[in-house]
Parts: sequence; C-alpha cells; structure tokens
Amino acid sequence: MRRLISILLYLLHSLSMEAASRSPYRIREDFPIFTRVRGPKPLVYLDNAATTQKPRRVLNAMVLYYAKANANVHRGVYSLSIEATQLYEDVRRKIAKFVDANSWREVVFTRNTTEAINLVAYSYALHRIKRGGKIVITEMEHHSNIVPWQLVSKINGLRIEAIPITADGYLDLGSIDKLLRDADMLAIVHASNVLGTINPVKEITRTAKEYGVTVLVDAAQSVPHMPVSFREIGCDFLAFSGHKMLGPMGVGCLIAREELLESMEPFMGGGEMIREVTLSGSSWNEIPWKFEAGTPSVADVVGLGAAVRYLREIGMDWVRRHEEELTQTALQELSEIPRLRIIGPESVKDRCGLVSFVLSDIHPHDLAEYLDRTFNIAVRAGHHCAMPLHTKLGLVATTRASFYIYNTKEEVQLLAEGLKQALKHFKA
Ligand code: PMP
Repeated sequence: MRRLISILLYLLHSLSMEAASRSPYRIREDFPIFTRVRGPKPLVYLDNAATTQKPRRVLNAMVLYYAKANANVHRGVYSLSIEATQLYEDVRRKIAKFVDANSWREVVFTRNTTEAINLVAYSYALHRIKRGGKIVITEMEHHSNIVPWQLVSKINGLRIEAIPITADGYLDLGSIDKLLRDADMLAIVHASNVLGTINPVKEITRTAKEYGVTVLVDAAQSVPHMPVSFREIGCDFLAFSGHKMLGPMGVGCLIAREELLESMEPFMGGGEMIREVTLSGSSWNEIPWKFEAGTPSVADVVGLGAAVRYLREIGMDWVRRHEEELTQTALQELSEIPRLRIIGPESVKDRCGLVSFVLSDIHPHDLAEYLDRTFNIAVRAGHHCAMPLHTKLGLVATTRASFYIYNTKEEVQLLAEGLKQALKHFKA
C-alpha cells in the first residue's frame, strides 16, 4: 500500500512538473536573458525567426563541455577524446530521432541552414546537373535558398525558375507540373520567414518525385516550431539551424538520404573527411564524416543536443499549439489596428508563429526602433533576407513579430498597444 501511494505521489509530481513546464511563464524562468530589464520594462523578445534565446541548460551543457570534457573529436585514443567524440556523436543520434531520419548517418553537421544548402549546391547540383538543366525554387525563398543556386548556375549554365505566389501569400501550384516536368532539382522553403506560410512540402515532394526531381526543403522555420518528419516529407535534403531552436549559433544540420550522401562529392577538403591522402590524390571518409572537414564546433553541437532534449521534453506538438495560439491572438489584435496591413495567409492553420505587417506609411525601421525605445519590444524590420518576395509584394520592407515557447499572450497584446501608440507618435 505504501508503495502504491509513493508511485501515485511520484506520478502526480511528474504530472504537475509536466504541466508547469508547459507554461510560457514557467519556461521563461529557464532563460537567463529574461532577467534583463530596461527601467521597469522587461524584455519582450519577438525576433525568434532570426534567432531564439538559450535556456540555462544549453548554456550549462556548453560550459560543462569545455570545463570537463574538452578534446578534439575522432582523433584521440585517450579517454578524454573518446568521451568528447561520444558526446558529439550522441547528438547526431538525437537529431536523427528528432527529425525522424532513417539513420544517424543521414545527419551532417554544418554551421547553419545556409551552409547546409551550399553543401548541396556545390556537392550535388554542381556535379549532377548538366548544362541547360533546371532548378526550381519559389518566390518566397530566403536568400539562403536562392543565392547558392545562382552561384552554381553561373558555373554550370543552369536555369532557375520560381513557383509564383498568390496575392494571399500561398504558393500558386497551378503551374507546378509544367515547372517540374523538365526540372532537375526543387529547392523549397517549408515555412516562410516573411509570410509565415506553411507550404505543403509533402504533397509537392510527391509531385516532384513523379518527375524524378531531387528535392531540398529549407526547414529553418519549421524544424524549431512543429513536428517535422524527414521520412514523411519524402524529400532528399532537409536543412535547418541550431540557433533558431534554442541551440547556440555556429551549428546547423543537413539531413540527406544516405545513398545520395554516398555518391556525392565532398564539400570542403581537409582533415577528418579523408580516408587516405597521398601527394597525388585522396580518398574519402565514410558518411557523414566525408562532409565534416576540419575540427567541428563540438561545444555547439553539445549545446544543440541539450536544446533538442529540452524541446522533446516540452513536446513539439505543444510548441506548435502554443505558437498557433499566439499567432491567432496577434492576427486578431493587429487586424483591429487602423491602417495596419498583415502580410500572408489569413488562416492560422496555414501559418507558422510569425506575423509580418506594414503600419500606415511608417518605415519599418522607424517603427522597430520606436517599439524598442518605448516598450523594450524587439521586432525585426527590413526585407528579412527575402528581397525578391518583397519586390513581388510591392514593398521595400516589413516589420515582423515572431514567437516562441517563452512568449505570452500579454506580450502580443503589448505589441498591439505599442503599434496603436506608434500611430499617434508618428501621426500616421
Ligand atoms: N531559410 C529561412 C527560411 C530562414 O528563415 C533563415 C534565417 N532567417 C535561413 C534560411 C538562414 O538561416 P541561417 O542564417 O541560420 O543560415
């Protein structure tokens, strides 16, 4: 009986722990940056699409790594190096599980999404797509998923065509068969960092596969915010950044199908990625190490491991639900503000946790500066590394509020209040 009671108490305790940890008010306590105040005003951080804040657990994991386990990886036969290697490789397994890859061999550590996409451009597209070949992107891509393709196209004489967007911020899929029929590669964003649109990448990949097209998904704004399954999407490459999902800056991932990685050329040459080197030539290490030249950012990888564990404990379903609630509040509050135009889909179900907008004729830079100075609210202003999209929308810049697990409804309401005050301040 006593045993039963203690089991029950334990269960109750763990349930209440769980409930507590799934509240943004409780979650905030894990983030030292939120002790930062300016006068009486706490920091309202709404620039999570650019980078997220880091919980104590991530910071501690990195400090602990340097304090207790620092050694170069894969090289030493001594126990410290073996331990460091184990920590590093454990994270690879964690990431594989987190994004539902087939195996840890499909996980390549890069610096960020940008490097992951460049890796595919230079190791895959440059060698595999013949002169006159075609790469399809979309009009809503981040520069990271435009410029690498332009660079290899220049070398190889490739064509780049873009899936257009509709006036309400969706992909216009009417022309997709025509675009993909003679394409070699499709590089598409999962969730737009400006419109917020979540693209149906699984369905689009299925169509691309019917035409034998290789598919890369830019998951920089999806993997941190919702459950994402590499296997379910069925794409060949998936790219994302650690710093946008509570991890440190300096580490990102490319998830790639094993047989593609096997057959691809290395990205960069140097130590670690080789099997044998002679003065006349070299052979390559096994995957994924073939793509990780030089000393990797081990402490960052360890930090990312702690971030993934934190997110798994909270649960990606909760993360998505919480962001949906905040986005719904934002759409509602902002739509009541006169002369405010929201960019992107109306339905919160089709959106990730961000809202971009223009407010009357106030320049987004002036608006962001005003919100910071007056309310200690951090929002992004500019073209958000998506100039072709802004050109298409007929805008030079937008203001963007983007949410994460520690943001609250009150913060969204404060943003709305700040925007109303801005109208008066700028007499707009
Ligand atoms: N793609 C998208 C959709 C993004 O939002 C970003 C970051 N804003 C990137 C790519 C590039 O990410 P990083 O700068 O971490 O390489």
